[in-house]
Amino acid sequence: MSLMKHYDVVIIGAGASGMAAAGAAVGRGRNVAILDMGGQCARKVAVSGGGRCNFTNDAVSVNRYFGKNPDFVRGAIARVTSSDILRWATSHNIKWVEKASGQYFCSDGAEKIVRALYDDMRGTDIFINTNVTGIEHTGDTFLIHTAGPDFSCHSVLIASGGTSFHTLGVSDIGYKIAKQFGHKIIPVRPALCAIATDCFSSELAGISVNAQITVGKEKINDSMLFTHFGIGGPAVYRATVRDFDELVINLSPDVDVYEILRNAKQKSGRKNVASILSEYLPIRVAKWICGDVKNIADYRDSDLRIIADKVNHIIIPYNKIKLHGLASAEVVRGGVDTTQISSKTMESKLCAGLFFAGEVLDIAGDLGGFNLHWAWASGRVAGEYI
Ligand SMILES: Cc1cc2nc3c(=O)[nH]c(=O)nc-3n(C[C@H](O)[C@H](O)[C@H](O)COP(=O)(O)OP(=O)(O)OC[C@H]3O[C@@H](n4cnc5c(N)ncnc54)[C@H](O)[C@@H]3O)c2cc1C
Repeated sequence: MSLMKHYDVVIIGAGASGMAAAGAAVGRGRNVAILDMGGQCARKVAVSGGGRCNFTNDAVSVNRYFGKNPDFVRGAIARVTSSDILRWATSHNIKWVEKASGQYFCSDGAEKIVRALYDDMRGTDIFINTNVTGIEHTGDTFLIHTAGPDFSCHSVLIASGGTSFHTLGVSDIGYKIAKQFGHKIIPVRPALCAIATDCFSSELAGISVNAQITVGKEKINDSMLFTHFGIGGPAVYRATVRDFDELVINLSPDVDVYEILRNAKQKSGRKNVASILSEYLPIRVAKWICGDVKNIADYRDSDLRIIADKVNHIIIPYNKIKLHGLASAEVVRGGVDTTQISSKTMESKLCAGLFFAGEVLDIAGDLGGFNLHWAWASGRVAGEYI
């Protein structure tokens, strides 16, 4: 029989948000335990940004977050800004590099961030290899069941993350607990991921272009990679975190290809179309678009329009898009419905003492450090109230 351990606060999940919350709660003199099913804390942080951890972004604002109710983030990101995170990094001697404008990576590797998170939550009892299996609530006490000891507490924070990237060990315990207390779950789907589609050829795999992807009214300009199964790269990742029906891809957004081809036809009909396109696109992409290698004089203007659209206006209909699976997605869209959570405290509106933070909530951020920023901000806010 296992002995029961009692704490003021138990945090389920020692990832980015759970550790940030533990730091804030222990700083307020709370007696805190943090439980994680993995063999170490902050495993996603350690691999994030290719091991360099893109930990915040100057452009943090509501419009870089997605979910049923993105406005939910407003309070937390106003309380914890990117400047606060940079100051925090400096206080831990973490050096950063600004890669794309406003996008901050850790120059000495993500491990430095992990160590800082451990430092901040000094005083917290850490239980790794501790898989939470269920929770009970009687009076003002929560009883948390694990494969090992049970824990009791007056406040519990669910910081168990999303269910993508299984290799790092994930679980749906957060959604199960939320449901148990009457919370709605917005269905989960992969986001920040590649797309499988047969609209392109696998022969193009490995080639990248600076593309523009139109998603609804928004235009995303970033690099796009052709893969064996479809398309990936930052532009595609960013498209997948948004709500979309079709995607419209422009492989050469700075150039009106129809104008170029018509002018070329008027000037010299003997020019080869693929070689004209190759001034604006990698040659293999140009050849794939044109098919046979005819001279431009052999094309009617309507044919040139079709070719131009294959560069400037490729429509991928919804039924040709398959998100490339939870296994490789960086985050999930969906999770615990935020309308039933206080955005000021992160506490459940349905059960006093039950808190949520991080990706388990129905909030997903854009590519570029927005997800970790959300984890830090929501975790700290929860830690200040829990
Ligand atoms: C490969 C990759 C790269 C990424 N790079 C970036 C990046 O550079 N910048 C960025 O902003 N975001 C990045 N992200 C996203 C970011 O890592 C997550 O959004 C963030 O870690 C979410 O924090 P969290 O605290 O909500 O969850 P997590 O950090 O996932 O932590 C949840 C924790 O809960 C534990 N847990 C789950 N179930 C149980 C259970 N039943 N019992 C006990 N413990 C449990 C897990 O073991 C885990 O440690 C990346 C994600 C991936 C997969």
